[in-house]
Amino acid sequence: MRMNSILVTGGAGFIGGEFVRQWISEESETVINLDKLTYAGNLDSLESVTENPRHIFVHGDIGDSDCIRSLFAQYHPSAVINFAAESHVDRSIDGPAEFVETNVLGTFRLLEESRSYWQSLPESETESFRFLHVSTDEVYGSLGPVGKFTETTPYAPNSPYSASKASSDHFVRAYFHTYGFPTLTTNCSNNYGPFQFPEKLIPVIILNCLEGKALPVYGEGLQVRDWLHVSDHCRAIREVLKRGRVGEVYNIGGDSEKTNIEVVKTICKVVDQLRPELQHSPSESLIKHVTDRPGHDKRYAIDFNKIKAELSWSPKISFDEGIRMTVEWYLQNKLWIENIASGGHHRARLGLLGSK
Ligand code: NAD
Repeated sequence: MRMNSILVTGGAGFIGGEFVRQWISEESETVINLDKLTYAGNLDSLESVTENPRHIFVHGDIGDSDCIRSLFAQYHPSAVINFAAESHVDRSIDGPAEFVETNVLGTFRLLEESRSYWQSLPESETESFRFLHVSTDEVYGSLGPVGKFTETTPYAPNSPYSASKASSDHFVRAYFHTYGFPTLTTNCSNNYGPFQFPEKLIPVIILNCLEGKALPVYGEGLQVRDWLHVSDHCRAIREVLKRGRVGEVYNIGGDSEKTNIEVVKTICKVVDQLRPELQHSPSESLIKHVTDRPGHDKRYAIDFNKIKAELSWSPKISFDEGIRMTVEWYLQNKLWIENIASGGHHRARLGLLGSK
């Protein structure tokens, strides 16, 4: 029996998890959620949808062609949304091979199986089928003090992570131009919000603040990122999926440029307000500058005029509001954090190529 469904990959991760929860609460199709459950995948983040009959979790790899083929045959999805990736820049510096395996080869195999499934569909369904690839602004490289990335900015990736994402973006583009395969690509700026694995800047800083540990900041902390709340990002992806023009790229950003040190100080202030009883207060006293990441991009900023003009999307959550909500979430979800901690994860900064 056919059901209306979409195939989401990487839906046990930070952004994919938000997308799955949003989809289940606001849309009607069943979600087939394929995830390899790497260190970054976490079924606890999907607790609110686990019992929902419209959420079907499948433990598997986007690079496993047989698995993908059997999911297409069984569920007959009308779209694929590809979040699955190795996503941490620092890990890509220490071990790039895994990034090539999943982000390049995995995406390629997923594309191949999706294309052959799409070609087997009746004409009425080939028209509406979509393959949406979720990517990053890091593929564009680094900006100087002015200007923003647009959809036509040339690619200039500087880390193994961004190189692997750039490569997958190129394959997605090529499948549209070569085969007419109905792709969409989104390139988004840095995300933050609930359920983010505690190795990325914002959760590391929140949790270390709460525990009175050093707050590691790369170099002077003057790198600029354009921050976007994860729920705004997933809302944008839903719009692109429904109304985006096939073969197009859409940049998604927060209009919220901050230096890393500004981000850290904002978190410190919010933690001090919400937890005035902490002994080490003010939390800013915990800031510790550490050796900068090799090849660290100076500035990212996104021009999102295209998605704003074509799809009327713009961010709804301001950075200050979003950070407060995020700190509150980490305060209220100790069990989620403890479960990750008991899995042996530590909050050390990676990617320093052995330097201390
Ligand atoms: P994440 O690391 O939190 O989650 C990735 C998920 O993919 C995990 O659940 C993991 O288990 C799964 N996965 C990894 N390899 C897989 C494989 N071979 N097969 C199936 N599943 C696999 O990452 P995230 O931060 O949620 O990012 C999701 C996507 O969004 C990525 O493609 C990333 O490049 C992109 N992106 C992230 C950001 C950001 O700020 N985090 C910004 C822009 C774009």
